[in-house]
Amino acid sequence: MFKAELLERAARFRSTEEDPTRNLQSCPSLVLNADYTPLSYYPLSLWPWQTAIKAIFLDRVDVIATYDREVHSPSLDMKIPSVIALKQYVKPSEFPAFTRFNVFLRDRFSCQFCGDMHNLTFDHVVPRRLGGKTTWENIATACAPCNMKKGGRTPKQAGMHLYAEPIRPTHWQLQQHGKMFPPNYLHETWRDWLYWDIELEE
Ligand SMILES: [Zn+2]
Repeated sequence: MFKAELLERAARFRSTEEDPTRNLQSCPSLVLNADYTPLSYYPLSLWPWQTAIKAIFLDRVDVIATYDREVHSPSLDMKIPSVIALKQYVKPSEFPAFTRFNVFLRDRFSCQFCGDMHNLTFDHVVPRRLGGKTTWENIATACAPCNMKKGGRTPKQAGMHLYAEPIRPTHWQLQQHGKMFPPNYLHETWRDWLYWDIELEE
């Protein structure tokens, strides 16, 4: 369903020459966990270069790749890191927080009744007036028209079908979904660490 859009976004890799982050203020570092996978895919884990350099001096990260830009000080010339990896593995919590963003991410930012990606709202699958709770298992992403149409009814009563039963996702499942939403800007040195190609094959 998203393949064309993904291909189009993935095609926006830019070379260093036309790199908009050549402005020193915005050379962000892609942050990898100690297993060399991104700490987060979506939003992509990025640190300002100042934070990255601080972490290097605290010996908390390894530099994997750099920008061509350097920072200068009386005691130091240093290339700005573009990819860094934590030395100590950060274990993600198994279950992510129940937030609006994470519900949308679980549902791939699409209405669970019709697939539309616009005007998204949250639907109580079992309506509140029938005792439906605000939980992972009872909240589904729905576009405004579907939400209206369904009204205070269960999907069955409304004759509407969910693409998937809402579940409480694991961290791993959300990461997998996050891979489907590459950011508009990707520095060329980030490519090897993001594995978009695997996702594009699906
Ligand atoms: Zn819809």
